[in-house]
Amino acid sequence: MTPQGLTSVEAALAHILADITPLEGTEVLPLARLRGRVLAADAIAAIDVPPADNSSMDGYALRHADLEAGQRDFAISQRIAAGAVGTMLAPGTAARIFTGAEVPPGADCVVIQENCSVADGVVTVLQPVVPGDNIRRRGQDIAVGSAIVAAGTRLGAAHAGLLAAVGMARATVFARLRVAILSTGDELVEPGATAGPGQIYNSNRYLLTGMLEELGCELIDGGLVADTPEATRACLRQAAEQADVVITTGGVSVGDEDHVKAAVEELGTLGLWKLAIKPGKPLAYGRILGKPFFGLPGNPSSVFVTFHVVTRPYLQRMQGIAGDVMARELVVAADFERPRPDKRQEYLRARLVSGGEGARVALYPNQSSGMLTSVAWADCLVVVPPGTTVARGDPVRAMLI
Ligand code: AMP
Ligand code: MG
Repeated sequence: MTPQGLTSVEAALAHILADITPLEGTEVLPLARLRGRVLAADAIAAIDVPPADNSSMDGYALRHADLEAGQRDFAISQRIAAGAVGTMLAPGTAARIFTGAEVPPGADCVVIQENCSVADGVVTVLQPVVPGDNIRRRGQDIAVGSAIVAAGTRLGAAHAGLLAAVGMARATVFARLRVAILSTGDELVEPGATAGPGQIYNSNRYLLTGMLEELGCELIDGGLVADTPEATRACLRQAAEQADVVITTGGVSVGDEDHVKAAVEELGTLGLWKLAIKPGKPLAYGRILGKPFFGLPGNPSSVFVTFHVVTRPYLQRMQGIAGDVMARELVVAADFERPRPDKRQEYLRARLVSGGEGARVALYPNQSSGMLTSVAWADCLVVVPPGTTVARGDPVRAMLI
């Protein structure tokens, strides 16, 4: 705790990340459905890639010893296109070969066609090569028996390509994390409806939906929750019964209309923090019916920041991600100044800028916590620790989002 009674971001994170029960269960999925899922067991290559030495260029395959002996004119003794298999190369001859075709036994170099002239079935080498030139060696990309993708990796396009390259049609991944979201607040209406007096549109629901989908979670959308103790309790209970994790927005301050805290205390346990984070001070973490619970603030940009800083690492760990689950950070020069220190750790909505004097980071002009426009504009969050100021040109931490 800081002197102001606020828990530091680091302390809160350490506490929360120590409280994780990884999800149980795996499933086997075909290649086309692996995107965004987390691999449950190391993928081991059953073959070499490439499976045999092959030509990286269109040209002529020959025996280097012939070149070394001074030979320049070679009878073309065979033609090998990609997908075909040649025969033992007769000494003193060349094989016409195309990109991706297997190099015939006996040949140990390829001369690219641009460095040859051809007449009457004879190729003349205009520019000699060294042994191995223009040949991709068997197993040079992937060696048989090697682990090509480690367990705990979130699978992207390149991983699917890699698994396909060794002939794997499916892989075992961890079960999909089911996350329930609830939007609290009597002022909320859904986009598409008409907002009456005193009402605002529910933006958190769509913000969270997108962030959870990007993490490959299965969404259980509990919709809007009225600001009453009964509704809050009932919705939280149902969410915890259906999902692995429950996330709410709003209602975690200590106002009369903030019912989340009391409901969670009735249904489970709550560690409610006043986090030293800006935006996003009220943040609740606990368990409901044994399921982890995150009570995010109401302000959309606070939701965005607290989700990225606290919830996202937690969910990633639960999903089975091995290694670092924190957002990647760069240290870059500030293209702004922040002369007044804050008690809380600030996460400023910012953009990386390149060119001219090199990489730097610029701020969205309005950093107030209600500004969702700042989040849509940003590609990173500049982390300014409590009690620090920033002068133009200072190195600052930019958390990529
Ligand atoms: P609360 O913590 O419930 O007092 O909410 C804090 C602020 O966030 C209030 O101005 C709310 O109107 C706003 N807010 C809460 N939930 C949402 C939501 N789902 N979409 C947009 N704004 C919200
Ligand atoms: Mg509210």
